[in-house]
Amino acid sequence: MVNLEDIKKAREEIGDIIHKTPLLSSELLNARAGRRIFLKAEHLQKTGSFKIRGAVNAVKHAVRNGAEFITAASSGNHGQAVACIAGKLGIPAVIVVPQDANRAKVAAIEAYGGKVEYCGFTSSDRIPRAMQLAAENSGVYIPPYDHPHIIAGQGTIGLEILEQLPEVDVIVVPVGGGGLISGILTAVKAIKPEVRIVGVEPETGNDTQLSLKSGKITSVSGNFSIADGLRTSQPGELTFPILQKQLDDLVVVTEEEIKSALQFIIERTKQLIEPSAAVTVAAILAGKAGGQDERIVAVLSGGNIDLLELRSCLPE
Ligand SMILES: *Cc1c(COP(=O)(O)O)cnc(C)c1O
Repeated sequence: MVNLEDIKKAREEIGDIIHKTPLLSSELLNARAGRRIFLKAEHLQKTGSFKIRGAVNAVKHAVRNGAEFITAASSGNHGQAVACIAGKLGIPAVIVVPQDANRAKVAAIEAYGGKVEYCGFTSSDRIPRAMQLAAENSGVYIPPYDHPHIIAGQGTIGLEILEQLPEVDVIVVPVGGGGLISGILTAVKAIKPEVRIVGVEPETGNDTQLSLKSGKITSVSGNFSIADGLRTSQPGELTFPILQKQLDDLVVVTEEEIKSALQFIIERTKQLIEPSAAVTVAAILAGKAGGQDERIVAVLSGGNIDLLELRSCLPE
């Protein structure tokens, strides 16, 4: 399905657009956690999240195959990433967002040159509309995680981590629909299978944990975690089998643990990250991921947080 060759090709494909993000470290964080931690800084990536990696790979393939128009259904980081790469390639894009979409996020999509269409409140309203728009306009709909080109693009993070820290023992990764962790698993397990990969979900949206336990895709509803990039209701058809086969561990963190980790990272390391990225540090600080003498990489997946909403994402 997706293999190491696909990820190496993706790296060539996206190299002219994306940043190779740094691996940061903090003595204060190491002292607090009692272990050696490295932060893969995807909050410093173009568009403020790793989503641009998969989006560039998928949109470039679509355009090469004749797409004249691009759609996506996301008011969040995926919508911004697709709008950004479509804008750079000069291809019109419509991003379908919910009626109650955050104004700052809509403004970001428009600033990248994307057109915004409002539709319904749930992804089952938005996705069919985005697909319909694509079908009517010789376009291609770009999904957020369940697509081989998306998974391969996200997997380029795995290649970078192995080059930046060849002696890494554990990589800790946030899990929403599972595109990010599927890509990292595919790259890292092909090159260095002894590196352990741990996924992290919010306790209130533990669909992947439940799916792994029951052995089949299981959905949860009513996930209102502050980690809004991880609110997907179930793992993907393509991503889930990759997790089932290769993932070492999946742990969950509470909302309080996410808030404390977010505060610690912002105050102590001065890195502005979003709650979905803080789950990895939350799991490490809670002793749920990574052992004492191990070199642990936490993927900081994004930094798009509305400053007016920041207060509600910190501990009381
Ligand atoms: C999308 C996203 C995730 C989750 O990625 P999946 O591929 O859906 O698992 C994590 N963090 C941030 C910041 C995101 O935007």
